[in-house]
Amino acid sequence: MKDNFGREIEYLRVSVTQRCNLNCVYCGKTDCAKKETELSPEIIEKLVRAFVKCGITKVRVTGGEPLVRNDICETVKRIRGIDGVKTVALTTNGVYLKQYAKELKKAGLDSVNISLDSTDGSTYRHLTGADVLEKVMEGIDEAENVGLSPVKVNAVLMKGVNSDGAQELVNLAKEKEIDVRFIELMPFSESGIDKRLIVTGGDILRQFPFLKPMNYFEGTAEYYTADGFNGKVGLINPITKKFCSTCNRIRLLSDGKVKPCLGYDETYDLIPYINDENELENEVKNIILKKPAGHSFESEMPSKGLNRTGG
Ligand code: SAM
Repeated sequence: MKDNFGREIEYLRVSVTQRCNLNCVYCGKTDCAKKETELSPEIIEKLVRAFVKCGITKVRVTGGEPLVRNDICETVKRIRGIDGVKTVALTTNGVYLKQYAKELKKAGLDSVNISLDSTDGSTYRHLTGADVLEKVMEGIDEAENVGLSPVKVNAVLMKGVNSDGAQELVNLAKEKEIDVRFIELMPFSESGIDKRLIVTGGDILRQFPFLKPMNYFEGTAEYYTADGFNGKVGLINPITKKFCSTCNRIRLLSDGKVKPCLGYDETYDLIPYINDENELENEVKNIILKKPAGHSFESEMPSKGLNRTGG
C-alpha cells in the first residue's frame, strides 16, 4: 500500500533478536539485549502475514544477529511460505553463516548481505571485539557455494579507523562475484559517534576514480563497476544523499513493535492485536500511514543503535 507521501511500502525488515555475538564500535551496546523480548517463529509469521496483506513482497531478516537464534531456519521457512512473499533475504555478520548457509537455502532463503568492515584481522578484531574474520570469510564462500544469490558485503568505513582498508574491500568485488557496498556511518546518540569519522560516498569515488557509474539503482544503493570486475561496488549514502523520498521500507522489531522510520525513536506495538487478524491488518495500515517524510539525522539523532532497531 502507499503511505501518506505516495511511497509504495513493499519491503519489510524483520529484526528477530537484539542479541549479537559481536560488539561493533558504532552499533550500540549488546549486553542489555534480552532473549525474553524475542518472538517465536509462529508469532513472527503471523505478524509478517499482516504486513503482506498490506502489500509487502520483500522481507529481510535481520537483528541483532539473526544467526544467534537456533530457530532461524524455521523462521525463514515460515516467512517463505507466506503467499505473496517474493523474496526473503538475510543480513548477518557471517560468523555462523558457514554452519547455517545450506539449511537456510533449503528453508527458502534467496539472498544474503554480510557485514564486513575490514579484511585485516587486527582491525576487524578492534571493530567487532572478536577474532572471527576467518569464519566470516568462510561464511561468504559457503553462501556462494550453496547458491544464495546475490551475495553482498556491506562495509561501514570510519576515517582513521578502517578507512585504509577500502582498497581490499573493493578488491573483493573485483575478484569475486559479489557486490561490495559502502554504507555511510549514521549517527546514533547511544553509540557516541563522532560525525567527523564519516567516510562519504564521494570520498570513495575520489579514492577510486576508475569506478564507473552503471546508472543502476537498487533500493538505497547506487552501483559502480570497473574493467575486470566480477562484482559491483555499491554506495549507500543516507547522510550525503538522503533517499527518504523513495523509501519503501518499514521495520518490525524483535519485540513486536514497528518502527516506521530509522531516524526517529517512535515505535508502535502490534502485540495487543495479535489475536485478531483483521485488527492486526488495520493496525499495520495505520502505522504505515504514520511513516514520516524522512529522517533528520542533521538535527535529530535517534537514541538507539542498529543492533536494537534492526540494521
Ligand atoms: N548482525 C547483522 C549484521 O552484522 O549484518 C545485522 C544487524 S547489523 C545492525 C546491520 C548493519 O547495520 C550492519 O551492516 C552494520 O554495519 C550496520 N550498522 C550498524 N550501525 C551502523 C551505523 N551507525 N551506521 C551505518 N551502518 C550501521
